[in-house]
Amino acid sequence: MQITFLGATGTVTGSKYLLEYRHKKILIDCGLFQGFKELRLRNREKLPIDPALIDAVILTHAHIDHSGYIPLLIKNGFKGKIYSSVATFDLCKILLPDSGYLHEEDARRANRYGYSRHSPALALYTREDALTSLKYFKTLDFGMPHYFDDDFHFTLSRSGHILGSAFISIKAGKKTINFSGDLGRPNDPLMKPPAKIQYTDYLLIESTYGDRLHGKADPCEELGKVIKSTAAKGGTILIPTFAVGRTRASYIISIN
Ligand SMILES: [Zn+2]
Repeated sequence: MQITFLGATGTVTGSKYLLEYRHKKILIDCGLFQGFKELRLRNREKLPIDPALIDAVILTHAHIDHSGYIPLLIKNGFKGKIYSSVATFDLCKILLPDSGYLHEEDARRANRYGYSRHSPALALYTREDALTSLKYFKTLDFGMPHYFDDDFHFTLSRSGHILGSAFISIKAGKKTINFSGDLGRPNDPLMKPPAKIQYTDYLLIESTYGDRLHGKADPCEELGKVIKSTAAKGGTILIPTFAVGRTRASYIISIN
């Protein structure tokens, strides 16, 4: 078994791990690099492996830094299946076409104001490319193993991060390897708690927030105080939403 890191190293976006076992090549997550321009430019670099040689993609969850490279992978020759949970697919049906639309908008703006080195500037991929990529998905229920070979299979289990998010547990020969994807908390008001991994030989774990620990204070109470005091003054609260599933706790507070 061999693993190659194709993203999310030295930065927290662009998650892509190539796992090779015997003759099979599996890509775990297929994320876009996001953020500063030098990171975004990495999306346009050639992958060190020809996408046509990759047999399958398995997704931990739908956030674009884990799924947003899929339309490009297909544009560049990938022909395999994309495995995900049912809810991850449902979210990808919204997020991937939206991402394609935003790339088209970027290209339109660059052409209008002439700030691209390329003429014309081209979208990384389009909404149409993203819609095409949805045909490659195959959904799996949590806990249902999927076999690539007699001694090579994987199972998804809940990771509690966003709707549909999963740990990917892969058994290759005698070894087990777990990919965490992004991790949720055990006491989330809306999400079911992450499954407990009973055994693994190797664990690849996300470390977006480094070694920082969650504070002890109850975020609902903290936010409740802010909302009550603002409301008492007749003020307005603006809650910026930057990613799917990141403002749900505040929504609960605001409707109570
Ligand atoms: Zn995420």
